[in-house]
Amino acid sequence: MTTIDLRSDTVTQPSAAMRAAMAAAATGDDVYGEDPSVNALEARVAALFGKQAALLCTSGTQSNLLALLSQCQRGEEYLVGEEYHTYRYEAGGAAVLGGIVPQTVPVLSDGSLDLAVLATKVKADDPHFPITRLLALENTHTGKVIPAEFFTAAREFANTHGLRLHLDGARLFNAHIATEQPLVAMAAPFDSVSVCLSKGLGAPIGSMLVADANTVRIARRWRKMLGGGMRQAGIVAAGIDYALDHNIQRLADDHQCAIKLANALQAGFTAQGTSTVTVQTPQTNMVYLDFSSAEVAATVAKRCKEQGILVPSSKRMRLVTHLDVPASVIHRVAEVIVAATASG
Ligand SMILES: *Cc1c(COP(=O)(O)O)cnc(C)c1O
Repeated sequence: MTTIDLRSDTVTQPSAAMRAAMAAAATGDDVYGEDPSVNALEARVAALFGKQAALLCTSGTQSNLLALLSQCQRGEEYLVGEEYHTYRYEAGGAAVLGGIVPQTVPVLSDGSLDLAVLATKVKADDPHFPITRLLALENTHTGKVIPAEFFTAAREFANTHGLRLHLDGARLFNAHIATEQPLVAMAAPFDSVSVCLSKGLGAPIGSMLVADANTVRIARRWRKMLGGGMRQAGIVAAGIDYALDHNIQRLADDHQCAIKLANALQAGFTAQGTSTVTVQTPQTNMVYLDFSSAEVAATVAKRCKEQGILVPSSKRMRLVTHLDVPASVIHRVAEVIVAATASG
């Protein structure tokens, strides 16, 4: 029985063809700036997003951290959504390692932030207060594509208050495919953007930070300090190149699978008269199920596992479609979850 893993798109495996590309990569010492594959990839990704420079990072957490460390000083603060990854899921790195204070605000239902609320958080120039330096946003957030108009307004807000603007675009490629907005336009409002290659795009390792050349120069120093200066990293770069060549357009398949899964689940729950769960319509590759209790969710996760289907056991259950979840299994996944919910 092959396992179907819907816990995250981070579980995607490098394909045989990707591994072959990695094995064949030209390499050099990237800390010396001599890895031809890394140099070419960084130039490629900078151009892809219309920025001056790009930096290969070990993870999205490192890439976001470098963005904060290179644009904020000790005693300065960044504004961020309280559910955003940069604040909530990165172990407080900016505060621990940079002395950078997070100022959180609630996230709105569409995944954006309220600029009027943010305005109340920007500090006056007063020795009592940290210095407000940067606004960190996210796209996609919990699978939701944030409206472009919000980012345009956020850029104006940043200009008004003299702030830098960073985007955690871990799944920006999903938003790009879902909306058909050009990547350059999506990155344009921001001073820096972080994107992940090891999620839906299927590379085994790697995120990229794109920004102006000076920000990337400072980020490169921080990356070295954090132990992220890798040597023959061309092996990693070749996997990412392969992902950019082959795996961007196919994200549309994942989005189709997510809709198919949500529809099948909804139909199944309705047919069965199950009222202990609600299904959120997906915009990209994530289907959220809200169960009435943690117990039902835990039972569903257990029953699914017995059938070779891995899902989180949380009350708010996130199901993520990706390149290792073929369309052919969606129907069975829905059947198993519907049956398990009825039995729970
Ligand atoms: C996955 C993710 C990251 C980065 O995670 P890593 O596991 O460190 O690569 C950053 N932001 C968001 C929104 C993410 O989903």
